[in-house]
Amino acid sequence: MRIHLFLVAALSLLFVHTASAAGAVVQDIRLWTAPDNTRLVLDLSQNIHYKLFRLHNPERIVIDLNATRMKVGLDKLGLPDPVLQSVRYSTAEGGVLRLVLDVKEKVQPRSFLLKPMQGKPYRLVLDLTRPEQARQAAVSATHSKKGIVIAIDAGHGGEDPGAIGPHRAMEKNVTLAVARKLAAAINQKPGMSAVLTRNGDYFVPLGRRVSLAREAHADMMISIHADSVRTGDVKGASVYMLSERGATQDRAARALAAKENAADEVGGVTPLDQVADPLVSQILGDMFRRDSLNSSQMLAEEMLGNLKQAGPIKYPTPKRARFVVLLAMEIPSVLVELDYISNPTQERKLTNGAYQERLASALFDATVRFFEKMGRLKNSASSAYSAGGSEATDALVYAGL
Ligand SMILES: [Zn+2]
Repeated sequence: MRIHLFLVAALSLLFVHTASAAGAVVQDIRLWTAPDNTRLVLDLSQNIHYKLFRLHNPERIVIDLNATRMKVGLDKLGLPDPVLQSVRYSTAEGGVLRLVLDVKEKVQPRSFLLKPMQGKPYRLVLDLTRPEQARQAAVSATHSKKGIVIAIDAGHGGEDPGAIGPHRAMEKNVTLAVARKLAAAINQKPGMSAVLTRNGDYFVPLGRRVSLAREAHADMMISIHADSVRTGDVKGASVYMLSERGATQDRAARALAAKENAADEVGGVTPLDQVADPLVSQILGDMFRRDSLNSSQMLAEEMLGNLKQAGPIKYPTPKRARFVVLLAMEIPSVLVELDYISNPTQERKLTNGAYQERLASALFDATVRFFEKMGRLKNSASSAYSAGGSEATDALVYAGL
């Protein structure tokens, strides 16, 4: 008995010792390039201690990770990118892994650790933000207001894939494809222009999506998503709008909003990112809000009417929930769940270009119809799809904002 206990104690000591000697392992490394920043993400086998500092002439950023080993190649990063020239590493005494990043411009580095969540391990996130001037140029290039501006928000992106289908199709890719098709149709329509809150595979915090729409003086916000459930047979589109103050009684809608609102945690934001634009955090007057809710309802109904022609519908009337991306918007704002990516048949359709075009066309026609009803666009029977975008510019009637 005594020997047995001794053995157990000795074995556990040995185990603790080898575990600490082995330390952490960098299991994967990913790079996401956004217009205003580049994000480098390291997947880690366990929590680590690290130190970040910069060196000048030439500009370098150095990250020292204590007791860490590299188990992944750096070729997959596909460098250089607009700010990051190259990455190399070496192991120093005491098992310190040193990553050296050669950066092109005087970028602002910012790093943070994320705890494991939704199947993702510990992650070290390094954001390299471009200098303000370059950033302004990149962001404002798309922001010269032209007629009626529609902000199109492709859900998820970068570290946050959104829902993943049984054949591994990712929500973030479907939403971006449909968003781009919708934007193309809008940009062909005289008197209308589109602004994408995301135009690539990178992460954009929810608050930033809202402020991008504001900075563009958008007249409408359309957030695009795809839903998922455990069972494979559920299908169909649904359209959501913001619920009025207080919790919604609809449990399914509430669960969906919680899932979509978790994007910030999965994608990786720090409390610093969550400092919202003062207008976003400000509570808008009841009348203002009610007015935008009424128009959001009208838009959602138009969209459902058109989506019904394009494919299956899950809920025939607009649903309401507290989506962060729709919060405090004083413009008509809806969140569209295109279909269930968890349904293998619908997943295949959602990744099909022609089907994506059909869905984008349904959303486009509803948007045009909405502004016609509001008296801001002259009624025309033809859409950009049927007319090939050759309508006269005088089809637009400004009724003021
Ligand atoms: Zn989503």
